[in-house]
Amino acid sequence: MGRAFAYVILGGGVAAGYAALELVRHRNGVSPGELCIISDEAVAPYERPALSKGYLLPRGAARLPAFHTCVGANDELLTEQWYKEHGIELVLATRVISADLRRKTLLTDTGETISYKTLIVATGARALKLEEFGVGGSHAANVCYLRNLEDADKMVGVMRSCHGGSAVVIGGGYIGMECAAALVAHEIKVTMVFPGKHCMDRLFTPKIAEFYEKYYTAKGVAFIKGTAVTSLEVSDGKVTEAILRDGRRLPCDMVVVGIGARANTGLFDGQLATEKRGGIKVDARMRASDAAVYAVGDVAAFPVALFGGDLRRFEHVDCARRTARRAASAILQDPAASNGDNAKEEGFDYLPFFYSRVFALSWQFYGDNAAGDAVIHFGDFSPGPAAPRFGACWVGAGGRVGGVFLEGGTREQSESAASAVRRGATVAELAGELERRGLTFAVDPEGRLRRDCIAAGGYAWHATVGVAAAVSIAAFVYWYGWKAPYVLKRDF
Ligand SMILES: Cc1cc2nc3c(=O)[nH]c(=O)nc-3n(C[C@H](O)[C@H](O)[C@H](O)COP(=O)(O)OP(=O)(O)OC[C@H]3O[C@@H](n4cnc5c(N)ncnc54)[C@H](O)[C@@H]3O)c2cc1C
Repeated sequence: MGRAFAYVILGGGVAAGYAALELVRHRNGVSPGELCIISDEAVAPYERPALSKGYLLPRGAARLPAFHTCVGANDELLTEQWYKEHGIELVLATRVISADLRRKTLLTDTGETISYKTLIVATGARALKLEEFGVGGSHAANVCYLRNLEDADKMVGVMRSCHGGSAVVIGGGYIGMECAAALVAHEIKVTMVFPGKHCMDRLFTPKIAEFYEKYYTAKGVAFIKGTAVTSLEVSDGKVTEAILRDGRRLPCDMVVVGIGARANTGLFDGQLATEKRGGIKVDARMRASDAAVYAVGDVAAFPVALFGGDLRRFEHVDCARRTARRAASAILQDPAASNGDNAKEEGFDYLPFFYSRVFALSWQFYGDNAAGDAVIHFGDFSPGPAAPRFGACWVGAGGRVGGVFLEGGTREQSESAASAVRRGATVAELAGELERRGLTFAVDPEGRLRRDCIAAGGYAWHATVGVAAAVSIAAFVYWYGWKAPYVLKRDF
């Protein structure tokens, strides 16, 4: 049995929802039988970041349908009804188990063959398992991962049963940090264990990390850094202790694992060109090495104009939204894109944007933290203020701002930072602009930011973040005697 569609979106996550909306808008609607989304999840596409934030709240938690795409971009809420009304076939709870790009067909686990004229691959990424690092116990009833709704439901259930108990969080990246905050809200005592020197070590400088670690410590979170969990003691199907490399034993009522993710590219092994670090290689219009296939979101490695056309892959929601829209408009608007005639573009005009919200804190990062020669911190890093406001800028060649981090910034303040990175403003220009926009928090009472940029070489702190990233990966490899997979840039 089989069905045929003009467009098939494989994967039903963030990018799928945004691609569908864009296709509908460009076409002023699609005809029934023209567009299909295949997802192994049981629900229509939703804003995945909600799972580690609103979804985990002990009171007033976010629940579907409230966070279906595309509400995260203040756009339409695409419920199952919306797809139905727009003639889009949602094939849910169905996994594609193989893809034949020569025949333009996908085989599902229900035995159906679905064919396409144009395929948009939006399969996202999967959470790395402890077993991939030689540690067993993932299947215990109180061990939680967090990638999809099913994981989030399990975590909510386990947290409720552990009220007043204790949790070990393995990993100090986004998932670890956001889940730790949720556990605290559920009045669960948290110990975080990770091999790096500080939390979020692929993005944060030691100074930024110090602020968040102090903040978490004040909330009762304990940090055990520079080591790893080497085994989990399981009794009656539940973990009772996490055992560290140095033999320390941490009794616990539950475990949360956030040790990285890996792009879901397996269906296309040997059929599509991939990037050495694990994504499907696409051009500036998100088209893969097969002209009928586009890849978007976490799974796509695309050339970024801002970085001179360097191929990058991001695991961030803003990237999923923008690459999805980009692919949809390229497919429908630009015949050249589907005819194999790529314009000689330097890359997709995309400014990387990452964010997180934990407790009462909220940070954003724009740009690149890998190319900077130096980092300048500004603002008040003391743990005291109820609404902390500080930041950092990564400075590259010629004193140009390559990346900006802001904690507690308003929308206008963030726009200022984004625009400075996009333009390649100098630090002096950024400092002036921040001041003009009333961003007084960015310049300390002694005009620190400006003074630093004027005093050539006189930076308060200095490190290449590329080195920090390498150290982070090396730490995992060292602690787990690890043989294989590449740890991705983000810990989602
Ligand atoms: C808990 C959590 C919190 C996050 N928080 C943030 C945040 O605060 N800020 C931020 O910028 N980013 C955040 N992210 C990252 C962001 O959600 C992702 O970058 C984004 O979801 C990527 O969208 P995507 O469509 O590429 O992949 P996904 O949203 O992961 O969707 C992929 C879909 O494909 C399906 N699929 C995969 N393989 C198959 C198959 N063979 N057959 C059928 N279906 C398949 C999956 O089940 C899933 O539905 C978070 C991620 C997680 C997991």
